[in-house]
Amino acid sequence: MNAVGERYTLSSELGRGGMAVVHRARDARHGRDVAVKVMLPSVAESLGAERFLREIETAARLQHPHIVPVFGTNQSSSNYCIGLGWHDRDTRHVEAAWHITPMVTRTALCFALWATAASAQDRTMPPESERQLARAIYKEMVEIKSGYSTGATTPVAEAAARRLRAAGFAEADIFVGGPSPNKHNLVVRYRGTGRRRPILLLAHTDVVEAKREDWSMDPYTFVEKDGYFYGRGTGDDKAQAAIWIANLIRYKREGFRPERDIIVALTADEEGGGPYNGVQWLLANKRELIDAELCVNEGGWGEAIGDTPIANDVQLSEKYVINYRLAVHNKGGHSSLPVADNAIYHLARALDRLSTFTFPLKTNDVTRAYFRAMSGIEKGPVSADLAKVADGDTIAMTRVARASTPWNAMLRTTCVATQLEGGHAKNALPQLAAANVNCRVLPEDEIDYVTATLKRVIGDSAVSVTVDGTPMRGPASPMRADLMQAVTAVTTSMWSGVSAVPMMVMGGTDGLYLRAAGIPTYGVQGIFYDRGDIRFHGRDERVKVRSFYEGQTFLYELVKRLAGAPVA
Ligand SMILES: [Zn+2]
Repeated sequence: MNAVGERYTLSSELGRGGMAVVHRARDARHGRDVAVKVMLPSVAESLGAERFLREIETAARLQHPHIVPVFGTNQSSSNYCIGLGWHDRDTRHVEAAWHITPMVTRTALCFALWATAASAQDRTMPPESERQLARAIYKEMVEIKSGYSTGATTPVAEAAARRLRAAGFAEADIFVGGPSPNKHNLVVRYRGTGRRRPILLLAHTDVVEAKREDWSMDPYTFVEKDGYFYGRGTGDDKAQAAIWIANLIRYKREGFRPERDIIVALTADEEGGGPYNGVQWLLANKRELIDAELCVNEGGWGEAIGDTPIANDVQLSEKYVINYRLAVHNKGGHSSLPVADNAIYHLARALDRLSTFTFPLKTNDVTRAYFRAMSGIEKGPVSADLAKVADGDTIAMTRVARASTPWNAMLRTTCVATQLEGGHAKNALPQLAAANVNCRVLPEDEIDYVTATLKRVIGDSAVSVTVDGTPMRGPASPMRADLMQAVTAVTTSMWSGVSAVPMMVMGGTDGLYLRAAGIPTYGVQGIFYDRGDIRFHGRDERVKVRSFYEGQTFLYELVKRLAGAPVA
């Protein structure tokens, strides 16, 4: 243990600024509580020891009722730390710790490196060497272009395989392959005792296309700036992909022996869909490689308001997609001789009726659990309504659906017109008018029910309503007690007061295919994002540096629990 550890054991975080973090801590030498100010590594690096010691001397001489006393300092070759006075149940010392800083110096009241002191300090941060490994893998993955049409997933799979081989994974436990040379997937097996059936850890390695001109920086250069990692795929889904590989290597180094095999699959073309989807391909061609009792995937992340975490979402189910083609055929004719029976007017009336129609409001097991949890998190009058929604109150559902587009989408099947075509000449009556209607359907609503409902609402036999393609539908994952308990335990140990919230998502993930194939899949990451600043698929995609590393710790601990290791 380093100097910080011998003298001060850091516990909860009390406050943070641009330069440093203040922790509550225990002063082992004198058996008392103190506040300890820890300089951010970047700041610490730019300052030397001498300067620090000079500043500490100045600080220690100060005595004033509004200034927190300096209780002591500790120093080793690389770590510096200062203990400040602690007043229990009084946060003034925190403020004072901040306010004293400019008087002494803005930068160097105290610094200790998070670096080698992981055990002694912030439990949410992995050790420095593990962070470096995860960051290096992450950077490598983000800088490989893996968009559906402008890149390939094979180099990502190969890069991960190289890392695993270097870490001592047997060639027989690593599979790289797929339906075409550019669309390879990686599957690696970390062997356990085999007492229980395997757990699958999934992440996709393809990204949504990103154009340089749409971004304020190169989307395929991994950049750390102002406390964020920037780059296409930083959030969706290369953070989780990198973390899975880094943590697997760490388990191996630490000699972790799980009760079940841990399988990591990094797969192609979740975003693009089409014939190359890695999960579908693996299920069809290499099922034995990924067969598992349960799977952890993307689909749920941590919700924060600004910097404050409020909920760690666990995705248990998702809506499924049905595209309908609405079409009206007509014999047409010269536009100088119009008749009432016009294809465009038929379609327009149909779409108009659809625009004012809403499917009934309803809840299911997952959304009820979600609304119940949210009623304890949201503030104000909506909190009571959310509780009523969880109890099936339809009046409250109406209010809640009106108050929020996402809640509306969570409470009902939705259908919306997304594309139009029609007419063939400016001076001809249309022979065809057609529209695509995109429906996002609750898992419990049947295709036939949705089709019949649309036909009834449209109420015009001239408008044909046909399902376009083959909708893919999977059941919800059961709310397994072991999974929910593990997520809750790790969540509350890392972020006090934050609960694990079951979720049904409105978009889609590869979890759909796995659930349909009988492998219950849970979307959980422990990587927190500001609710108001989600940039997946968008411009300047980014993840908070701290959130990435916290996610690394969260998934490390979660998988250890789920893989059946004794809880430390
Ligand atoms: Zn994704």
